[in-house]
Amino acid sequence: MTVTGSSYRIPAPLSGVGRELLDLLPGLVEAARTTPPLAVVHRLPPDRQDALARLSEAGAGSPELARLGSAAARLRALRAAARAARTCPACGFDGLDGPPYLAFEGLPQDGAAPLVPPYAVAFGDPSGTRCPCCGYGFGLDDDPADGSPPVTFEAWGARWRARGRPWSDPARRPSGSDPATGVHGG
Ligand SMILES: [Zn+2]
Repeated sequence: MTVTGSSYRIPAPLSGVGRELLDLLPGLVEAARTTPPLAVVHRLPPDRQDALARLSEAGAGSPELARLGSAAARLRALRAAARAARTCPACGFDGLDGPPYLAFEGLPQDGAAPLVPPYAVAFGDPSGTRCPCCGYGFGLDDDPADGSPPVTFEAWGARWRARGRPWSDPARRPSGSDPATGVHGG
């Protein structure tokens, strides 16, 4: 499959790149002449962004296409990082208003040393807010001001799941999620 344009060329084979994306490419390349590549790709559906990023990884095509591809890959990485930083470490809800701790970028991967409260030691200043889903208080439940024992993410999450995953702030429940059990299926 080869598509040519006035100044770019996409060599075959392009596994996983849909016909729809190929049809879109001439317009995208044209738009990228006058608009920053990130701005061109950021409105594309995620699957198209993935396909563009793969195009770039394959080293396919022209410099214009390569710029679009690296913009798509960068956007994808930034979005994943932003999502990880706003994912509750106790319940997995990924819609926190901001990072629960100043330097929080998601929980450490398996194999890292276990975290011990207070979590400010690992992640910096806590937000002092509560997760709208499970209700964990960042800097509140891991470092209680009244001297009561700290509660770990794991213990809080387990207790919350055992209670049937009730929303701490039902007004924040995304539409379409199960009212009784929150957003998390598994
Ligand atoms: Zn939570």
